[in-house]
Amino acid sequence: MAEYIHIGVAWPYTNGDQHIGHLAGANLPADIFARFNRLKGNHVLMVSGSDSHGTPIMVEANKRKMTTRALFEQYHERFIQVSKKIGISYDLYTHTDTENHHRIAQDFFKILLERGYLFTQKQTLLYSELESRFLPDRFIEGECYICGYKGARGDQCDNCGNLMDSIKLINPRSSENREDTLVPRETEHYFFDLAKFRERIFSYFDEHEGHWRSAVMNFSRNFVKDLHERPITRDIDWGVAVPLEGWEAKRMYVWFEAVMGYFTASIEWAHNNGTPDAWKDYWYNPNAKIYNFLGKDNIPFHTVIWQAELMGVDGIYNEGDSTHLQLPYDIPANEFMNIEGDKFSKSRNWAVWLPDVLERYQPDAVRYYVTRTMPEFADADFSWDGFLACVNNELLATWGNLVNRVAGFAYKRFDGKVPTYDTLTEADKAIIARVETGFDTVGELLGRVRLKEALMTAMSLAKEVNVYLDERAPWKTIKTDPQDTARSIYTALRAIDNLNTLLAPFLPFSAQHVHDILGYDGQFFGALDIVEYHEETRSHKALVYDGGGVVGKWKKSTLQAGQSLREPVALYTKLEPEVIDEERGLLGKPRTERIIEV
Ligand SMILES: [Zn+2]
Repeated sequence: MAEYIHIGVAWPYTNGDQHIGHLAGANLPADIFARFNRLKGNHVLMVSGSDSHGTPIMVEANKRKMTTRALFEQYHERFIQVSKKIGISYDLYTHTDTENHHRIAQDFFKILLERGYLFTQKQTLLYSELESRFLPDRFIEGECYICGYKGARGDQCDNCGNLMDSIKLINPRSSENREDTLVPRETEHYFFDLAKFRERIFSYFDEHEGHWRSAVMNFSRNFVKDLHERPITRDIDWGVAVPLEGWEAKRMYVWFEAVMGYFTASIEWAHNNGTPDAWKDYWYNPNAKIYNFLGKDNIPFHTVIWQAELMGVDGIYNEGDSTHLQLPYDIPANEFMNIEGDKFSKSRNWAVWLPDVLERYQPDAVRYYVTRTMPEFADADFSWDGFLACVNNELLATWGNLVNRVAGFAYKRFDGKVPTYDTLTEADKAIIARVETGFDTVGELLGRVRLKEALMTAMSLAKEVNVYLDERAPWKTIKTDPQDTARSIYTALRAIDNLNTLLAPFLPFSAQHVHDILGYDGQFFGALDIVEYHEETRSHKALVYDGGGVVGKWKKSTLQAGQSLREPVALYTKLEPEVIDEERGLLGKPRTERIIEV
C-alpha cells in the first residue's frame, strides 16, 4: 500500500549563496529519499523554503547597505535557481515571508498562549541611544566575560565558543556605529515554557529509539535533561509580528517560527494545488511518516523544540477530530562536510559554492561525489582530488562507460535495436537476477536513509555487470557467434535498465538520459518549475515539482527485444587533472557572485 511520506528540509538563511555543506547536510539526502519514495509509488510531500528572518540576514544587509527585504529576495531567487539546476525536487520551495506563514505562526503563538505554554518575563537588554531601539545580540560587540577575547559578539564568543549573554559583555558597543552608546534598559518578552513538555518528549524519544541515528538521539536526550524556557520574542522590526495589542514593536524569534515552515509550507502547497485539505494526509494521518533532513548544528530545533511546538498546538485546524498532529518519525541529521581538510568558513571563503560548481560540472557528477562521501555518521571531507577520482574512476568508468559501450555497440551492430535472442544462457540469467536483487538491498538501505551504502551497493552491481561483459566478450563473439552476442548484449542492456532505476534517486539527470537511450518515451521523473504565487498583499517565487505523467518506477526491467534504441551520447565528461589545482587555487581567495544560468 502506498505510504504518505512527508519530507522537510532545513530552511537556509538568505544571507549568502548555498554551499556544499547545505547540499551534503540536508538538500541532497532529502532529494534522494524523496525520489526513491516517489519511484516506489508512495505519496511524497517534500517542502522547504528560504528563511527570510533572523538577524544574520539583517547584519549582512546592513553591511551591504541594502534593505533586508532586497537581500533576502535576491538569495531566495538564487536558492531556487541552484535547487533546480542540481535537481532538488521540492514539491514546494517557498519562504517564510509569505502571508500564509505569518498567519499560521501567529495562530501557533495564540494557541500556545491560550493553553498556558507562554509567559512574559522582564529582561534587561542593551538599548541603543542613537537608534532608539534595543540592539539585537548580533549587532553588539564587546569583551568576552569568560575568556577575555576583545571581539566577542552579543550572541557568541568566536574565541572560546561559549554562547554569550550580551548584557554581561565587558565594554559593550554597537558593531555598526562606534559613536553609539549602549545602556541597559528593561524590556518585556514572551517565553516558551519548554519544561512543560519534558516528559512527553522523553516518551516520544522512547518510541523512536530503534530507528534514529544514535548521535541524534544521544544529543537530543542530553538537551532535554536541561530543558528550560526560552524567549520567543525580541525587540526588532523584521520578522513575524506578535499578534497582541501593545506588542507592535516586537517580533517572534526566528528559531521559534522558522521550523513551523514545515507545517505552513504543507498548507501552502495544498492551497496552491486547489486541494486545501490535502496537507492533512501527512499531518493528521497516524500512518504518515515525517522525515526532517538537516545538519547536526540544527538538531535540538528539530528533535525537541519543534516537537514541543507541535504538541502545544495539537488539533490546530482540525476541530472536531480526535486524531493527533503527527510528530517527526525520523530526523537523520548529517554531520559536517569539511573542505580539503579544513572547516567551512564564509569569511575566509573556505567553501565550495553551489552556483560555482554547477557552472563547471555536471549536476550528477556533484551529486555522485557528495553522496559517495556523505557525512552520515561522521564528519567527511570534500577534496578536489577525491572529486576527480570518484567522477573519472567510478561514475564514468564503471557506469558511464558501461552504458555507452553496450548501447553504442547495440546501436551499431543490431540495427539500432535491442537485440532479438533465442534463449539466454545460465550466465545471462544469473547476472540479470543478481542485479535485480538490488531492488531489495538498495531499496532497503534507501528506506533506512543509509544513502552512501545504498549508492555503493548499486555501484558494486554495476561492477559485476562489467565483469560479466568481460567474460562474455560480445565484441569478440560478434565475429564468431553473433547469436551469442545477441544474448549477451540483450542481457547487458536489461541489466543497465535495472541499474538505471537503482541509481536514479542519486543520478536523476542520468536516469532520463539512459531511459532515452534505451528507447523509452516519457519522463522518468517530473520537472522542476519556477512559479510565482500571489497573496493579498504580496507575491513570491517558488520552486515546484510537477510529477504528473512520469513513467519511472521502482520495478524490474521488462526490456523488450526489438525495441528501438536512440543513438547514445556519452553520459559524463571526463575531468582533467588540472581541475584539482584550479579549484584549490580558489579556496581562501575573494569570490565574486555571478549570475546563475538556469
Ligand atoms: Zn570567549
